[in-house]
Amino acid sequence: MKKKAKDINPARWGDATKLVRGGLDRSPHGETAEALYLNSGFVYDEPETAEKRFAGEDDGYVYGRYGNPTVTMFEERLALLEGAEACYAVASGMAAVFGALACNLKAGDHLVSSKALFGSCYQIVTSILPRFGIKTTLVDGQDMKGWREAITKDTKCVFLETPSNPGLEVIDLAGVCEIAKTAGALVVVDNIFATPILQRPLNYGADVIVYSGTKHMDGQGRVLGGAIVSTKAFKEEKLKPFLRHTGPSISPFNAWVLLKGLETMKLRVEAQSEAARAVAEALAAMPGVSRVLYPHLDSHPQAKLARAQMRMGGTMVTFEVEGGKPRAFDVLRSLGIIDISNNLGDTKSLMTHPASTTHRNIGPEARAMMGITDGMLRISVGLEDVNDLTGDLKQAIME
Ligand SMILES: *Cc1c(COP(=O)(O)O)cnc(C)c1O
Repeated sequence: MKKKAKDINPARWGDATKLVRGGLDRSPHGETAEALYLNSGFVYDEPETAEKRFAGEDDGYVYGRYGNPTVTMFEERLALLEGAEACYAVASGMAAVFGALACNLKAGDHLVSSKALFGSCYQIVTSILPRFGIKTTLVDGQDMKGWREAITKDTKCVFLETPSNPGLEVIDLAGVCEIAKTAGALVVVDNIFATPILQRPLNYGADVIVYSGTKHMDGQGRVLGGAIVSTKAFKEEKLKPFLRHTGPSISPFNAWVLLKGLETMKLRVEAQSEAARAVAEALAAMPGVSRVLYPHLDSHPQAKLARAQMRMGGTMVTFEVEGGKPRAFDVLRSLGIIDISNNLGDTKSLMTHPASTTHRNIGPEARAMMGITDGMLRISVGLEDVNDLTGDLKQAIME
């Protein structure tokens, strides 16, 4: 019999240990890797067991839409990393964004959001939620006066994304959370670009954090998934009643892929961020590149805030080429290694033209408001050799 080590407190583990061992719940078979429970339903030895589980007196599983042991391992691992009480996994990042907002809002409520948002987040805030009678106000995320004016006693919820997609705008988390707290509003942060490896919004006063597992958590282009990190009370009282009945459940297979993805996420995000910084510096020195946006470069308008809030500058670099859309398309066509793709956070470096893809549907006016120009390109830096990436960019942009 293996001796039990005393006083194991996973909350005191370092991030790397949490990512590899957090939430691990081995079956009686003692498998090394986490088991994949690919089942939709559960059976009971006695009718009384079923009755107790439905009454909430026994916390065993009842149905795949309500929970699954593989999904639970993923949720517990992410909550542990984040230092949060709870996590609820869902089918995609957008299911996480919509669920976190909709579970807490009703007709007549007021939502304040930063205006530089991922395309689908923008649709939820400006078009979908208003259809249900929710009033929304958009503010320039960097304008603290704007936040102070927009958030009133009637504001129920504040939503923001930092750094933003694709402009990599950095928002003062502590500043916005303080304003929201005074008004009694709940702060929901889309932390997808920064990842929990580089930025912890809970430390600045945020209440709820949303993730797309599709991005850095999987990080290898395989599955969709999402997660909502919150207090236990928010999960039990707001998320569960909303999500269990509306059904955006994550597939246990996808949760298993994300669970294994978390094990290498720190290594990947740190290596990709280091490479992204080198790519940003190389781009800044190339003729024909009129602007480079990277949170930790001195040239970034909020470099100081970005360095205070984010441990590294992140895996994304945004830049502008002279010559607008035709020139941006030329660059994309000339790439030899980096792929044309709107996905991000992948081990493969990917480049997209936001104005014609991710931010196409929001229209030219909203693009102008967000500072998305026709010559803007966004790179998600992967795990290839940095010299190969800078070489590819050089030949695509300069030759
Ligand atoms: C990708 C992304 C989402 C949506 O995630 P999905 O998994 O694609 O649904 C939301 N916000 C940001 C910032 C993203 O990059």
